[in-house]
Amino acid sequence: MEPLYTPQGVEERWQRTWEDEGLYRAGAGKRREETFVDAHPPPNVTGELHTGHALQLAIGDAVVRMKRMQGYDVLFQPGFDHAGISTQNAVEKQLATEGSSRQELGRQAFEARVWEWLRQYGGTIMTQFRRIGASLDYSRERMTLDPEYTRSVMRFFVHLYRKGWIYRANRIINWCPYHQTSLSDLELVHEDVDDALSTIRYPLADGSGYIAVATVRPATIPADVAVAVHPNDARYAHLVGKEAIVPFVERRVPIIADERVEPGFGTGALKITPGHDPKDFDIGRDHGLPEPMAIAPDGRMNELAPELAGLTQKEAEERILGWCKERGLLEQREHYRHSVALCERCHNRIEPLISLQWWCAMDDLKQPALAALRERRVRYHPESQHRFAIESLENAPDWCISRQIWWGHQLPLWECPEGHITCDEEAPAACADCGSTALTRSTDVLDTWFSSALWPLATLGWPEDTPSLRRYYPGNLQTTGREIIRLWENRMIFSGLELLGEIPFEDVVIHSTVLARDGRRMSKSLGTGIDPRELIDAQGADAMRYGLLKMSSTQDVRFSDSMVDEGRKLANKLWNVSRLLLSGRGEAQPASLPGSVEELWILARLEQTRSEIEATFDRDRVRQVASILLDNAVKYTPEGGNVAVRVEEEDGRAALEVSDNGIGMAEDQMPLVFERFHRADPSRTESGAGLGLSIARQIAESHGGEIRVRSRIGEGSTFTLFLPRRG
Ligand SMILES: [Zn+2]
Ligand SMILES: [Zn+2]
Repeated sequence: MEPLYTPQGVEERWQRTWEDEGLYRAGAGKRREETFVDAHPPPNVTGELHTGHALQLAIGDAVVRMKRMQGYDVLFQPGFDHAGISTQNAVEKQLATEGSSRQELGRQAFEARVWEWLRQYGGTIMTQFRRIGASLDYSRERMTLDPEYTRSVMRFFVHLYRKGWIYRANRIINWCPYHQTSLSDLELVHEDVDDALSTIRYPLADGSGYIAVATVRPATIPADVAVAVHPNDARYAHLVGKEAIVPFVERRVPIIADERVEPGFGTGALKITPGHDPKDFDIGRDHGLPEPMAIAPDGRMNELAPELAGLTQKEAEERILGWCKERGLLEQREHYRHSVALCERCHNRIEPLISLQWWCAMDDLKQPALAALRERRVRYHPESQHRFAIESLENAPDWCISRQIWWGHQLPLWECPEGHITCDEEAPAACADCGSTALTRSTDVLDTWFSSALWPLATLGWPEDTPSLRRYYPGNLQTTGREIIRLWENRMIFSGLELLGEIPFEDVVIHSTVLARDGRRMSKSLGTGIDPRELIDAQGADAMRYGLLKMSSTQDVRFSDSMVDEGRKLANKLWNVSRLLLSGRGEAQPASLPGSVEELWILARLEQTRSEIEATFDRDRVRQVASILLDNAVKYTPEGGNVAVRVEEEDGRAALEVSDNGIGMAEDQMPLVFERFHRADPSRTESGAGLGLSIARQIAESHGGEIRVRSRIGEGSTFTLFLPRRG
């Protein structure tokens, strides 16, 4: 073995070997019947490895490796999300460079083109997962749009539809004018922008004066249907019940009172535009107001005010404000900074629009999940995220599940000329109501998260009653970022409970968000991203895993190069320890008791570490295990030279144990460096067996009966605990 550990080349070789030997397969090497399942979050099929993925894998992989060593039947499930909007976007960009578009291709040809594109560019992220050393069962790789998975999604939809929980309604939704689709609240990002707040006078219809309103969106004035004030606002009490005239379109609208109006904002009077504002929409529905719209789905002005049709909102705003100014109705225009919603993918401003969409009612669906969370049958870690998960589920509004894109699961809904809807998993021959055979399928597709909500059970073959489903559902662990608690984790919980009556997993570990070195958000466009692939190339995957685990906490953390470097140094230290151990083990002679105060001290430390880990690896603090393991591996692994001396001393027994434990405890986090020295050990006879076992066996052979094997932490590497504790 070389004196200096160089991960390059070595790591890739072990990753390949392990996979080829089937060591990652579900159930490989199990010595007990209990299962341990981590259905890993499926990355976007168009995605590339980022630090969030790397940290997620470092945590999940450390835990599943530990469970494997403890003898569990482990399933670490990999796969991809078809990522509706992202994937469609990528292919549309490519089409644009060829001067074509999806509309030009048509739906079928476009879908074929996406599959073709995916064959060429998609799925590379799984190679990057391998490069980290993630021990996923790659033989079970799935995608949320593969044919079997699609069948699960259709079954789920039809199930909800038949329960009456899926319905169509005209409501205000978030519309992306670029992507030309509805989006859920959770697919938006919010950003502060500089805007102008205009105060505009609406003349009273009886000619007795005016009521002034403040607005940041004068372009929506043509769609105003009322002016609202707070019922307790003395300034306006005498005006409630009168009528005002909307500028530019000169339409009479009522002045109404509503408690949702904030008297402190602007003038305290609010123009009500149900077609373009969610709050106005609610107020409008409660007061029975009409819902005209002034803005078209492309973001430009529609025909509502014919002289504005086709203009951009900016142009319309100038026209309307000019009109007001000429008539002395523009009271003031001031700078105003406020938060606006943007599409998280294209960063265009979201248009709230009223649109006919499909919704999933949440009231009944979420109750069993809420109970599971309140009773802590499913636990989020840390506790603050558990509370957040409960709150966000309590407040979850009905879910807008339809999207106006082409790449995804087309809704299993067929409409006849009479407007009857037939819902079925397969194309029906005739309308269920009138028997008409002239059926048209809905062109909408489902929200991507509708399909990923089934990840823990669809990957196991549901709705078929498969052996995998019976064996590996419910699972145990999820490791993920907090931004998808509402989008994904909560939805898996309610879907699993609804379809199988059981929670899909027990623990959800929410990891840190790793920030750039300067504390800014990591972002490709800002140039603040840190590419894990570069770290792996430079320092090795073990070092990166170690570094990420060490820097992670329950808070957001800044990326630290020194932690990764520490990982590299530790890998090298371990390499040297193992080298010396291997060269010295032939001479090791066990003694019945620790031979010195130092040995006792080290053994006491080990025992302490072990009990700390055991106490920590309970359902409350699963995530802390990683950091304790690492801290102790660093603290208690003796310097290579010391171990060698001890091993070669007459009383080598304690030293052997110390070394092997210190190493073993870090093995889950840094698997790659270990394998090399396991394999370098000629006495290693079985897959997954560690150096410790080999040494223990040798000693057992020459000193029969003196070895006590304990398999508390993980038999693969720390089971050679053959010294009795004192007392
Ligand atoms: Zn967009
Ligand atoms: Zn019909």
